[in-house]
Amino acid sequence: MSPPLTAIFGIPPATPIVGRDGKAVNVEGTEDNPIVLSGVTSAQLDDFLAFFFKSELPDAEKCLDPTPDRSEEIGVNLLTVGCLWDIKEAKSHAKQLLEGLKLPPLRILQLAREFAVYEWVEAAVKELIPMCSTAKGTFNSDDVLKLGPTTLSILFQAKCAIEYERQCIAYVAPKLPPHDTLNYGDCSNHQSCEHAWKDAWWLHVAKRILHPGNPMPLKDIGAHLHGLNIRGMTQKCHDEAVNQWTANVFEEESLVASAVAGVLRFHKACQLS
Ligand SMILES: [Zn+2]
Repeated sequence: MSPPLTAIFGIPPATPIVGRDGKAVNVEGTEDNPIVLSGVTSAQLDDFLAFFFKSELPDAEKCLDPTPDRSEEIGVNLLTVGCLWDIKEAKSHAKQLLEGLKLPPLRILQLAREFAVYEWVEAAVKELIPMCSTAKGTFNSDDVLKLGPTTLSILFQAKCAIEYERQCIAYVAPKLPPHDTLNYGDCSNHQSCEHAWKDAWWLHVAKRILHPGNPMPLKDIGAHLHGLNIRGMTQKCHDEAVNQWTANVFEEESLVASAVAGVLRFHKACQLS
């Protein structure tokens, strides 16, 4: 089950030693003086034993039907013991328990770093990047301490780069496809289409991209454009413009992916140090 535990339980019981004075020396590993397990608190060991022996211990009830706070405590205790002694069952159960609690992303990232749960990093970083705003004051001083300067710097750099890309995109309406590639269909006044497109972009799209509280994801803009009724623009030209837009590749996704990779590198470096 666990190589470290197998080794611990493989140690033979201590043989009582008699000192020069004829009295027994109080060595560890006897019933009267058990070995002290370093790195584990009694509460952590209690939760581990309750999980492992389930109905045989009174604390099992708490493990079966705990409150959310207690569930988090149990999950963290199990993860602590599971990681310390490399017990797959405890780690797996702890992860399942904590994932089910839908903890805030900051807490998830904190646990991911502490216990090297790399599969939690991506989702947490994706949730945290949009929250990086000094204006909103999303992170209090306690949050800043929990995240640490390296992670904060990665998150804010990604957020700033994404914001810059969005501002550049929003500021100027994308050009309509050039004449030589566009079949204009029934369009007899393409200049009118271009004016209508620019107005519609500024009034109905740019504002959504730049919205301070709830900006529209760039990947959703194609569908939003498609649903617009743009007066003064023919349907054919509208469709062509939307098709051109949806063929765009945005930096946003690769910026998020770089931030995820950066946080992962940092977490792995923390494990090595
Ligand atoms: Zn046109």
